[in-house]
Amino acid sequence: MNAISRRGACPALSAPMQTGDGLLVRLNPVAGGLAPKSLIGLGESALRHGNGIMEVTARGSLQIRGLTAESARLLADEVDGLGIAVRIGMPVETGPLAGIDPEEIADPRPLAERIRAAIEEAGLAPRLGPKVSVVVDGGGQLTMDAVTADVRLKAVRTGTSVQWSVSIAGDTLSAKPLATVDEDAARDIVVAALRMVAEKGREAHTRDLSERQLASLAGWHSVAPLSVLPDISPSRGEIGSFDAGSPFSTLQISETIGESVISPLEGEMSGRTEGGASRKPIGLFPLAGETFALGITLPYGSMPAQNVIDLAAQAASLGATEIRFAPGRALLFLGLSTSSSLKASAAALGFVTDPADPRTRIAACPGTPACASGRIATRAIAETIAKESADLLDASLTLHISGCAKGCAHPGTAALTLVGDENGAGLVVDGTAKALPAAYRPGYDAARGVAGIFAAIRDARHQGENAAACLARLGAAGIAELYRRNQ
Ligand code: SF4
Repeated sequence: MNAISRRGACPALSAPMQTGDGLLVRLNPVAGGLAPKSLIGLGESALRHGNGIMEVTARGSLQIRGLTAESARLLADEVDGLGIAVRIGMPVETGPLAGIDPEEIADPRPLAERIRAAIEEAGLAPRLGPKVSVVVDGGGQLTMDAVTADVRLKAVRTGTSVQWSVSIAGDTLSAKPLATVDEDAARDIVVAALRMVAEKGREAHTRDLSERQLASLAGWHSVAPLSVLPDISPSRGEIGSFDAGSPFSTLQISETIGESVISPLEGEMSGRTEGGASRKPIGLFPLAGETFALGITLPYGSMPAQNVIDLAAQAASLGATEIRFAPGRALLFLGLSTSSSLKASAAALGFVTDPADPRTRIAACPGTPACASGRIATRAIAETIAKESADLLDASLTLHISGCAKGCAHPGTAALTLVGDENGAGLVVDGTAKALPAAYRPGYDAARGVAGIFAAIRDARHQGENAAACLARLGAAGIAELYRRNQ
């Protein structure tokens, strides 16, 4: 039962994080999901103690923010009272349909459990930063392709058996492939990689490992039988103390930590867009025995807690047995005999029930008034743009609306970024929220500036040209002028 807490021992509950909007707690149920009545209870706690908003992050964690030290303690007590066991320790994540998806290549949960146990046994968790993570992806309908991780394991079929493709630092598109190995070797490579990271300190990630270290990780399984694997117990397993002859004995442990970020705290904040190419978790996903899961998402990753409560109550009345949180800011409803009325209720409550919904193309942090650091009403601006310019929000265009320069919802570059500061809503073209804006409008009027840009795209777009290509043709200076002048 390592890495499980029921009595407020979870760091997410007992040591919530400070944000621009008070304290934030993040919960991942051990069971993978919650009974509808537990989610209702949690929603009521969020209403009582938080800012009245519930969030599901890009990685599929539940978040409640706007807490004080006192209210966070009360919330933790109520989570205990609801009997919700939450995970603690380093995240070792599996897909939201792990073990119940008839299309998955392998059930990733046993391997994930073995990795958690090995991390615990090696005493690694306290030596690793809170953003270090491992993904174990069994494949199937809802993959973990878009979720970044320090180490990724993905099930692959090799003839009649299943092996695990190991890659390092990134999502499925950006991670560096290391090796394809059996389950035991996969576990051992994960632990070895995490040891190397731990040696570099709590700010380090696998992206900071040297080529030589990566080569060691990739190559050792082909030269070292499992029986000579280094002991991973805390007393013997430190890097540098391996037996002579082990490829690990040559590890370098003092390289400078790089500057790029794999999975920053901000990346867990809701509203963030993700890389990768996995299917959106919206719609029906067939399961065994003619059952299915219904996926919906929270627009920009958040919803009033009352709406979540109302939807969970409706789901319970329709026979739902479990509600899971899924990567992509989603809720998955299991146990329903029909989906249509719950889907209609979700849409009426403002949830996203259609993968083509333009809101899925906009990254927007909570902004003002939800976040005390916010300078613009991000979600209101996003809603207006989604309503008025849905036709231009094609897959080519990234639009990021950030309450301040921190850029929680989308740390990377976006084609267009609106960012709040003391001058109003700044526009950054092809940059991040931290960049110097090229033009400003008052925050309340920002959507009109974007409408001016989109109107120009509509007029100037060549047949077959996507919005991003047209935007590039208009040029940064021209776009800034369009934003500034539209009245
Ligand atoms: S980016 Fe948004 S959520 Fe993050 S601190 Fe700024 S206003 Fe708050």
